[in-house]
Amino acid sequence: MIPAKPLPQNLAQRYAGWRATTYSENRGWYRRLATEGQRPLAMVIACCDSRVNVTSIFGAEQGEFFIHRNIANLVPPFAPDGDHHGTSAAVEYAVQVLHVPHLIVLGHSNCGGVQSCYDMCAGQAPDLEENATFVGRWMEILRPGFDALSDGAEADRRTAFEHQAVRISLENLMTFPFIAAAVEEGDLALHGLWTDIGEGGLMMYDGLTDRFTALG
Ligand SMILES: [Zn+2]
Repeated sequence: MIPAKPLPQNLAQRYAGWRATTYSENRGWYRRLATEGQRPLAMVIACCDSRVNVTSIFGAEQGEFFIHRNIANLVPPFAPDGDHHGTSAAVEYAVQVLHVPHLIVLGHSNCGGVQSCYDMCAGQAPDLEENATFVGRWMEILRPGFDALSDGAEADRRTAFEHQAVRISLENLMTFPFIAAAVEEGDLALHGLWTDIGEGGLMMYDGLTDRFTALG
């Protein structure tokens, strides 16, 4: 038997509230969304962190963003090895099938995934070196960025490592032949962002200068 339980009462109540208000007031719009299919204006790759509210910071509605979330918003390099690649599958669908014109990698402050990679690279988390930890092996994608960090206060180095997570993901996206081709054709634009949860700030990666600068 699969041990699936009924939804807790508080969540069931929240759903009932949404159905009675937001949904019922916009029924026609939801039905159009269902029948007309999706034409998202961008794909966003963000961290699983519950504090990163991807749609909220852009004031986006359903149907506008094709969102993939994983630990530390990482994209692995192109690896057609027959294995299970969730992030690569999402990227492939967004670019090849939905033809999204923009692909945004959204990093964030206080990222627990990046912190664990930082500890692992600093030799302070030997358990993350084990093959049995999925987080440890997933964070290998970011490991090359550790050596690129300049000296300084640990908090600054952690932020710089979060920026590296965005930068390395953008680099890895370009190893997918269909992405490189779409970028070359001008059909797809890549973007790198990093959001400061506490301050509500947004920084943007500039490929020309290889730096992050504040937006707005
Ligand atoms: Zn995170």
